Amino acid sequence: MKQNSLKWNIHSLKEGENEFHLFLKPEELGIAAHTVDKTIECALTLKRNGTKVFLQGQISFLLVLECARCFGRFILAGKVNLAAYFIPKKTSDNGEKENLSITEVLTEYYKNDIINLAPILYDSVNLSIPIKPLCRDDCKGLCPIYGTNLNVKKCNCKREKIDPRWKPLEKLLEKK
Ligand SMILES: [Zn+2]
Ligand SMILES: [Zn+2]
Repeated sequence: MKQNSLKWNIHSLKEGENEFHLFLKPEELGIAAHTVDKTIECALTLKRNGTKVFLQGQISFLLVLECARCFGRFILAGKVNLAAYFIPKKTSDNGEKENLSITEVLTEYYKNDIINLAPILYDSVNLSIPIKPLCRDDCKGLCPIYGTNLNVKKCNCKREKIDPRWKPLEKLLEKK
């Protein structure tokens, strides 16, 4: 775990645009290694204006997911656009309200000249994990009795599709 690799001193950035192309391991963001296939690619631009830093970029990754219906593993490509402002946190709060007209964009307050990119990158990956992942929209799932993968083949079991209230009638028909 080298979480510190994403904590940057703003003085290491030049005024204006700074471009970075990073390949991160999921562990570096505190993400379980089995949820992401190999690396998380980040193309970031940090625009520094004095003590304010504007982050923009895109991250791409491959999620390893388990289908909620058939439990098969599958890969889902994720791509997230980022935008965030880093603003120094005032050490003494003099009650003065900062006039920020950037409320629509995520704002992170930083201390001691250090901005931490890890939480934003972590959230971007995590929020793109579907709550109910499906290997495909029409996944047929597994047979509830034998566990046959119904995407692959039909199951031979005779599932009762008939409403139990009709059962007596079914027996009558069989007698004929
Ligand atoms: Zn499935
Ligand atoms: Zn079956």
